[in-house]
Amino acid sequence: MRISQRMGAARPLATTAMHGRVEALKSQGEELIDFSIAISHFPAPAVVRERVAQALLMPALPYTAVGGALALRQTLAAKVGADNRIDASADEIIVTNGAKQALYEALYALTDPGDTVIVLRPYWPAYLATAELLKLKVVLVDLPARLDAAFVAGLPDARILIVNNPHNPTGQVLQRAELARLCAWMGARGCQAIVDESYEKLLFQGEHVSMAACADWRALGIVTLFSASQSYAMMGWRCGFAVAPATVVQAMETLQGPITAAASALSQVATEAAFASGEPRAMLEDYRRRRDLVLDWFGPVPWMRMARPDSGPYLWGDVSALGVDTVAFAEQLLNEWRVAVMPGEALGVPGHIRIGYISDDLATLERGVRAIIAFGNALARRA
Ligand code: PMP
Repeated sequence: MRISQRMGAARPLATTAMHGRVEALKSQGEELIDFSIAISHFPAPAVVRERVAQALLMPALPYTAVGGALALRQTLAAKVGADNRIDASADEIIVTNGAKQALYEALYALTDPGDTVIVLRPYWPAYLATAELLKLKVVLVDLPARLDAAFVAGLPDARILIVNNPHNPTGQVLQRAELARLCAWMGARGCQAIVDESYEKLLFQGEHVSMAACADWRALGIVTLFSASQSYAMMGWRCGFAVAPATVVQAMETLQGPITAAASALSQVATEAAFASGEPRAMLEDYRRRRDLVLDWFGPVPWMRMARPDSGPYLWGDVSALGVDTVAFAEQLLNEWRVAVMPGEALGVPGHIRIGYISDDLATLERGVRAIIAFGNALARRA
């Protein structure tokens, strides 16, 4: 069968491809430890499961409006007003099958083929993959530790800036002044932004500030993405939404209509319950403990450099001291030690590995980390 030229050149996401490989090995009876993506060992909040169980007793699950049931959009508008200080009404919200769908739709609605998009490196691979599917020109800019005036002034001209705050994989959390600087730059250069705040709830310290709270977000053209996947351990539920000026929401709905129509009615029930459930405190404390344990285990390892992230379910390790290609490192680790990590190449920065540390029980987590250390030590001895 002939495949279109457009799809013939496209590649699966590196992250989901690695996870798919791990799942395939597991289904063949292989025992392995998967740190390649972050799949929480927590279930969805109890209130989500209760509401969905109740919804199953309804006589029928109807199609809702494409952008989501009005009552849900009103709840989400209240959520972003209270939590994120984003003043938005229900017609400025679109409910999607996860943030990925919202990202695709927002980029589709805001750009034409050939337009330039700034992606900060390291990056979540879906930004690049989506931009490539839409034939956009991606300009990669290294994410500095601080977005100071000189950095912001040096950003290239572009149609869209993609910001991920809190940031996967580094856990970096942008401060109010940095966001204000970006907003001023957007206004001066006429660049719009897609701000992915999917990790907003996974903050170990400090404050999450939404970029759209910093300025007149409608005039600047800011689209903010939210997801229950990481905030409420609901990866498989596919619950996300975007906040955008009403005209952008309408364009996104026009695209979503023939593809999925609305998100599933059950997911909408789940989305409403999740985002009304507040802060996932117990989950965050569990993640913090794991983060600190893994940092302690890697502490004495001379070839590993790892900062303590302020947020998120990942540790971003610099293993460049080993002098190895990290794709080969990840391959060998998987083949010989049965531990999967994400090589930095998949996120645009070779010499690093990303470890998702929220998936298993603590004993498995420790076994996996000890295997990485033993493998790296053997490589270091050979070097
Ligand atoms: N944005 C980023 C940067 C992510 O890493 C993730 C989870 N992998 C998501 C969004 C969540 O996407 P979705 O809502 O489609 O599961």
